[in-house]
Amino acid sequence: MAASEKEAALAAVPTDSPTIFDKIIKKEIPSTVVYEDDKVLAFRDINPQAPTHILIIPKVKDGLTGLAKAEERHIEILGYLLYIAKVVAKQEGLGDGFRIVINDGPNGCQSVYHLHLHLLGGRQMNWPPG
Ligand code: 5GP
Repeated sequence: MAASEKEAALAAVPTDSPTIFDKIIKKEIPSTVVYEDDKVLAFRDINPQAPTHILIIPKVKDGLTGLAKAEERHIEILGYLLYIAKVVAKQEGLGDGFRIVINDGPNGCQSVYHLHLHLLGGRQMNWPPG
């Protein structure tokens, strides 16, 4: 098992506890913020998987530990996160294309249980993903 897989397995138990992202939202730990408004925060991933790798998160988790926990009340913020992904992609100059990823749960290799979109770009993506 690769180190990254072990890490994911260890973090595989979904929880509604605060995560590192709460500290990033509160600016208690530093991050490189590329977009912020009253509803969402977008910042560079600490372990980038592409030349551009940005995480886009809701500032209020409201039970959205992952996409699997989405309920009807989340429809507006889910749509807004996708819209902001497009805004940030444009801001980052990803005119040739980009990829949005949402890892969900243990099989999806989710490691932080605060819903987030990965915005990846700046290189040719492959399909199928690993
Ligand atoms: P997941 O594996 O849950 O889909 O994605 C979590 C992402 O958060 C990973 O890509 C990981 O590199 C990133 N990440 C974890 N801790 C930090 C941190 O402290 N700062 C930043 N900027 N990214 C982080």
